[in-house]
Amino acid sequence: MTKEQLNHYKKIIMEKRAALLQELDRLKSSGLNTSMKDTSGDHSSYAFHMADQGTDTMDREQQYFFASREGNLLYHLNLALERIERGEYGMCVGCGKEISAERLEAVPHARLCIECKSKEERQKIK
Ligand SMILES: [Zn+2]
Repeated sequence: MTKEQLNHYKKIIMEKRAALLQELDRLKSSGLNTSMKDTSGDHSSYAFHMADQGTDTMDREQQYFFASREGNLLYHLNLALERIERGEYGMCVGCGKEISAERLEAVPHARLCIECKSKEERQKIK
């Protein structure tokens, strides 16, 4: 992978990450605030329903964060940035081959090539 390609993917990942962080902030403030001032009757049409588990606010916040699709994606985007820094980006962690450019365009944080990914998914189903 050339430096230009790396920068290209890094840019995509950084942009996705920035958008996600914004989204998470929005979700977090609207979600936590509405659940705290529940009695105000201020239930906007914006649907944010946190699973009603756990009593501690910090735990709930973290639980929500890591359980959410956004939090999970953010985690993978961060890992991808780390791999870029370490020069491991674009290499399949399963077989060590280069991940195809088409796949990286579609899933810039991919860490498995198509073959390993489908293998992994087959194993999960079993
Ligand atoms: Zn592979």
